[in-house]
Amino acid sequence: MSHAYQSHNTRLWIRHPLACTDPAAAGGVVVQGTRIVERVAAGCTPSEPIGQSFDASRHVLLPGLVNTHHHFYQTLTRAYTPALNKELFPWLTTLYDVWANLDEEQLAVASELAMAELLLSGCTTVADHHYVFSGSLVEAIDRQVETAQRLGVRAALTRGSMSVGRDDGGLPPQHVVQEETTILDDSRRLISRYHQRGEGAMITVALAPCSPFSVSRELMKATAELAEAEDVRLHTHLAETEDETHYCQRLFGLRPLDYLAECGWLGNRTWLAHGIHFNDEEIRRLGEAGTGIAHCPSSNMVLGSGLCRTLELERAGAPVGLAVDGSASNDHSNLAEEMRQAMLLGRLRYSPAQVGHDDIIRWATQGSARCLGRDDIGGLAPGQQADLALFKLDEPRFSGAENAVAALLLCGAHRADRVMIAGQWRVIDAEVRNLDLEALMARHHAAAQRLWRAV
Ligand SMILES: [Zn+2]
Repeated sequence: MSHAYQSHNTRLWIRHPLACTDPAAAGGVVVQGTRIVERVAAGCTPSEPIGQSFDASRHVLLPGLVNTHHHFYQTLTRAYTPALNKELFPWLTTLYDVWANLDEEQLAVASELAMAELLLSGCTTVADHHYVFSGSLVEAIDRQVETAQRLGVRAALTRGSMSVGRDDGGLPPQHVVQEETTILDDSRRLISRYHQRGEGAMITVALAPCSPFSVSRELMKATAELAEAEDVRLHTHLAETEDETHYCQRLFGLRPLDYLAECGWLGNRTWLAHGIHFNDEEIRRLGEAGTGIAHCPSSNMVLGSGLCRTLELERAGAPVGLAVDGSASNDHSNLAEEMRQAMLLGRLRYSPAQVGHDDIIRWATQGSARCLGRDDIGGLAPGQQADLALFKLDEPRFSGAENAVAALLLCGAHRADRVMIAGQWRVIDAEVRNLDLEALMARHHAAAQRLWRAV
């Protein structure tokens, strides 16, 4: 028997999964309220009486996947013809002119679609990096908070920023850059209004200049000071391409990481998207500082950006998480598929023995959680949040698989059958609860067409 909603005190046993990533939970987990209260060993039963149980004998049980970097609005410009087959900088300058016309309605529907897509891939915590603000789009993060709350998704939303436009030698069009006082004031407003602190937080707010060269040095420093004063996290893109390294050297006379450090950003409050072009010395410094890296394998392959040195970073002590990145450079938002990409790409740089399927699952759960500064998600230990992803192996692609956990990556799992967030089922029978997905896709596609036509 299973119910969509658990009452607060009922103990629910997710019983005898087909397989589980955590050997200590081979007999399943017990959920009470928003948390996991017990891991059940193989062949055992829970230590205390249970109120309900869910038969997971056909499911592979994982901690909910955690996505560390995305740009939800980019779902409106997937496979956009003028941007196809380009490297990062020309790709960016082509798309900025389209994104500059984004409005609140388009952003809201894009966020809803991206969150639903992530949820269906087994993702329970979504992160978004939104940095396009203009006259027609001011309350972007407010709309994203509403959407995350409606879907019951845990979200790390970042208040992005751009203050150096084309008139000042930057990449974005002038009308999507903002005054620096506006950016800081709005950052303070969003933190005080939405940022939840402590265990079980459903909405967190972080501060996130688009890149160190799309805002001024003063704003980079002021953002780090504000994050420190408010005790929130810092996020940005860094070391994505060689072009960027040359650009930083020309502009600041420094490599990207030296510039980041000079702005007061090199610490364990920060997590960085991509982090590809670091030398050995920089990797050592990142590890020492505990700065996290959101590894985005598909995006890095699509834009031909390079291979992130994930193992060296992890060995040095830097948390390594996984991310789908924005949907104009991936172009899907499927974190289960991204695990497979990370494994395949990792094996181009390292040996198969060094990049096991279980290493990738660790990045997508515990590693990603660490990037977001959290230890209450990303695992199945008692006391952690009841964020779970359950996959069935009932498609032809899985038939004949011996190791059910490895099959998720090797055969290419892409749709979870059940997803639980904070003790509530949000996906049942591979459908998002209380969501008309067909209608959402129709609204989303219409919004996308409207955006393309505005150029
Ligand atoms: Zn990105």
